[in-house]
Amino acid sequence: MTRFLLIAILLLMIAWAFWKVVDGVIEAFGGLSNSRGRSPVKLVRDPVCGTWVSPGESLGLRAGDTTHYFCSDTCRAKFAKGRS
Ligand SMILES: [Zn+2]
Repeated sequence: MTRFLLIAILLLMIAWAFWKVVDGVIEAFGGLSNSRGRSPVKLVRDPVCGTWVSPGESLGLRAGDTTHYFCSDTCRAKFAKGRS
């Protein structure tokens, strides 16, 4: 019975060590893919005044398949007005 217990503890320790290694590998790969997937901020041009804006922080207006981005609400209103 003692031998069974020792083997069980040994197996647990091996499993624990194995998962620690797997965890580390996953973290390493995740870190790699994350840094690779993090693309530099792509700037788009405001079609009204020509200012370069980042889509994440600017005002967007969908026009068909494309989305236009504007530096301000004024530009967006001008663009919408000009289109109609
Ligand atoms: Zn603008």
